[in-house]
Amino acid sequence: MNKQEQDLISAQDRNSVLHPFTNLKDFASGKLGDPTIIETGKGIRITDATGREYIDGFAGLYCMNVGYGRTEVADAISRQAHKLAYYHSYAAHTTDELARLSDRLVRMAPGKMSKVFYGLSGSDANETQAKLVWYYNNLRGLPKKKKIITRDRGYHGCSVVSGSMTGMSFYHDFMDLPVTGILRTGVPHHYWGAEAGETEEQFSARRAQELEELILREDPDTIGAFIAEPVLGTGGITPPPAGYWAAIQPVLKKYDILLIADEVITGFGRTGAMFGCDKYGIEPDLITVAKGLTSAYAPLSAAIVGEKVYKVMEEGADRVGAFSHGYTYSGHPIGVAAANAVLDIVEQEDIPGNAARVGAYFQNNLKEVFGGLPIVGEVRGVGLMAALEFVADPTTKKRFDPALKVGARVSKAARDLNLIARAMPHGEILGFAPPLVTTETEVDQIIDLAHQAVQKVIKELTAEGAIR
Ligand SMILES: *Cc1c(COP(=O)(O)O)cnc(C)c1O
Repeated sequence: MNKQEQDLISAQDRNSVLHPFTNLKDFASGKLGDPTIIETGKGIRITDATGREYIDGFAGLYCMNVGYGRTEVADAISRQAHKLAYYHSYAAHTTDELARLSDRLVRMAPGKMSKVFYGLSGSDANETQAKLVWYYNNLRGLPKKKKIITRDRGYHGCSVVSGSMTGMSFYHDFMDLPVTGILRTGVPHHYWGAEAGETEEQFSARRAQELEELILREDPDTIGAFIAEPVLGTGGITPPPAGYWAAIQPVLKKYDILLIADEVITGFGRTGAMFGCDKYGIEPDLITVAKGLTSAYAPLSAAIVGEKVYKVMEEGADRVGAFSHGYTYSGHPIGVAAANAVLDIVEQEDIPGNAARVGAYFQNNLKEVFGGLPIVGEVRGVGLMAALEFVADPTTKKRFDPALKVGARVSKAARDLNLIARAMPHGEILGFAPPLVTTETEVDQIIDLAHQAVQKVIKELTAEGAIR
């Protein structure tokens, strides 16, 4: 793309696009510079309009799992668009791709799943989950059993209820969230949350005990569900401490509380298992999937409904009539065709196996390269998701002054070296979630560039007197 075309697009964009997570004033004034115009992608790399190539160490937003530029998926989308671009799935209409995808998802998914309801985003799928929890308990004659427990630093989306489930205040501020009926319990992050000398198991047991105390305080008859990511994503890419899921699940069972597993990031291989639930022995009642479902080749999400919930819904139909929930685009033919093509790749190329194998290499090398650095407090992760947590003093866990923006600076330094690694919004954290087709050689490149970026910021911070 020539300079003139780029300038035109930049001007059009600045004048008319409301960008998510962008400082509106700094963008409008030009302080943030021109928008980055992304033009093409292949494998784990993307190229912008100036011809500059980046390694995408975050797979877009943890979603481009099978890698950019897969012609099999583009062809499947094209075939479906030519054959039938759209029909709805209301009143028992279907397409071959929709039926095939749903059948395979029910078979693939952990737990005892029964049916699949489709949306277009993780946010709307979690909105559906909340409605299912309320519907289920209304049908059971338990109209008080409605509150949903979420966790600090959990991420479940940005819409009204899903945004309320999200446990980070900057998603709520100035937007009148959270809505009522959302409760919050502690984040399972041992590094920051454990008391002196507390083992991971003890810490997990304490989190489970706190959960039980919350339930008893609120009255178990008012609590409908607990929603959680198997591995915390946007809240800092934090795998659960040992024993966490084994301690939490009995508490939920004891009080008849549904477990919603938000597998939007962890689904389809990210942790090295097909689902995070498989990895951690989680038995969910409801499962949310999105991102990896189509590897972002088309917008599609799903609320997978377990047998326990579905049976009550089916039995209730005599009383309530049709299930009155659905989107124009529920089960959109192009989305489901993309999902089938992506899941063919996931199965044929054993994408979870690659994430496990290359992920182990990635995690070991991250620990080796970054573990001893003077600003790295914790190196953590599982499969092909990982994070570095920066602190001013690893021995005392002294935090950096947020004004130093250490996480953002490292991310910027990496970006200057053509590596995309994300400054996570909660804390001084650099996150990695590369495509699941990443090879060991590419892992070496990612780690080398990230290492250069961290060293550069260490030098700057030393010169500024921020660290010794
Ligand atoms: C991204 C994400 C969502 C929201 O998905 P959108 O498609 O952005 O609405 C929900 N839950 C988790 C765990 C996510 O990572």
